[in-house]
Amino acid sequence: MSENTSINWQENFLGVAYRFFDVRMNIALMFPERKEASSLWLETVHWWNDHTIKVRFVEIGDEYWFIAGADSRKPSTNKSFYKILPKSENYERFKKGHNGSAILRFAVYTKKFYDGVKNDVPCDCGHRKDDHNFEKNDYYCLYEDCNCKKFESFQINLMKKKKVVTNIKFMSEDEVKDDSLAWNCLNRHKYNKTE
Ligand SMILES: [Zn+2]
Ligand SMILES: [Zn+2]
Repeated sequence: MSENTSINWQENFLGVAYRFFDVRMNIALMFPERKEASSLWLETVHWWNDHTIKVRFVEIGDEYWFIAGADSRKPSTNKSFYKILPKSENYERFKKGHNGSAILRFAVYTKKFYDGVKNDVPCDCGHRKDDHNFEKNDYYCLYEDCNCKKFESFQINLMKKKKVVTNIKFMSEDEVKDDSLAWNCLNRHKYNKTE
């Protein structure tokens, strides 16, 4: 296979969230800002031909390569997406539960700090905001067996626009050569890395 050098790869997003929502599993590419995410969607994914959308997961050790791409009705601004991510519980849940199809969408990821949320909002440590110390702006967790030093919480807001993906494959690195999208991605970013 020779590499398709015209693919414009985009890895400038925070990661991927997997959510069970609207009956199907959702794959959400996370961005820090709504505006940036929605203009990127409009110039890329919006133009994808649904039946050509492919999502690939290439597992290498404790990590996986997330790869998504499609043929576009507007090839001049098209992009394919990839990101190397650590395997997570949500990833494993998606892998087991997707049943061959998923909803692809973008999401806005926001970090929330002590002052920005209500008392019952859980911290990343699992304990509520009001289980954290508030004196002298310390915000550490009051549970003795918890080593959380500062209240922090995140929120993922799924954006409305979506695409249905029915071409989903999980593979190991030695299977990449039989898959054009995964092969193009690894060839560019792993095997032929120029810098
Ligand atoms: Zn905490
Ligand atoms: Zn805690």
